[in-house]
Amino acid sequence: MKYLIISDIHANLTALKEVLRAAKDFDAVWCLGDLVGYGPDPNECIDTIKELPNLSCILGNHDAAISNQINPETFNQEARASIHWTKKTLAESSLTFLQNLPEKIEMESVTLAHGSPRRPVWEYLLDIQSATENFDHFITPFCFVGHTHLPVIYTINEVEKTARLRVPTSEEILTLSPRTIVNPGSVGQPRDRDPRASFAIFDSIANTWKCQRVRYNISEVQSRMASNNLPERHILRLASGW
Ligand code: ZN
Repeated sequence: MKYLIISDIHANLTALKEVLRAAKDFDAVWCLGDLVGYGPDPNECIDTIKELPNLSCILGNHDAAISNQINPETFNQEARASIHWTKKTLAESSLTFLQNLPEKIEMESVTLAHGSPRRPVWEYLLDIQSATENFDHFITPFCFVGHTHLPVIYTINEVEKTARLRVPTSEEILTLSPRTIVNPGSVGQPRDRDPRASFAIFDSIANTWKCQRVRYNISEVQSRMASNNLPERHILRLASGW
């Protein structure tokens, strides 16, 4: 089976559409959360994702705040402004979709969590220490996470009990060895200084992971954000991927 792995779409329909075009053929889709927040197209993104074939989707922290499951006051001021705008804009059917997303899913060989298997909605896996600790919090061979908006692969040295970090390059095909945590990067708001939308294709037979980047029309999204008075910092960061 070929799985399209997407995360942190953040209401960026233009980036999402380019990803779906570039991914071409896949049998199923795993979406690792944060469908909304920051971007100008929350309903359109949810409607598009809902219709994807064999979808499994989990809850991100922005999804949880926008659907009244966590307090928006825990976010910084600009993120809060975007959460409030999204809440106002969200259709009833979109809200219901977000409210029904699980925090974590275990498939045959993979655990899906937005932030980490230990604290699925909130924890950022940004360093070796937190990655190492999280290997004790899932039992499947692989764990796929999002949340940091950075494509990365963590493996564990079972003898030294220390995680190792590797940053995949675009188009590189890697064979995942059992006990690996992988992040496909962000579709709608990449933060690794590469503004192209990021996603991955996972082949569950060969256990291969291919991280891919695709260009999209950033200025088109920026104008939609500006016309909805979304925070300027979020508009600017799309162009340079930070
Ligand atoms: Zn996010």
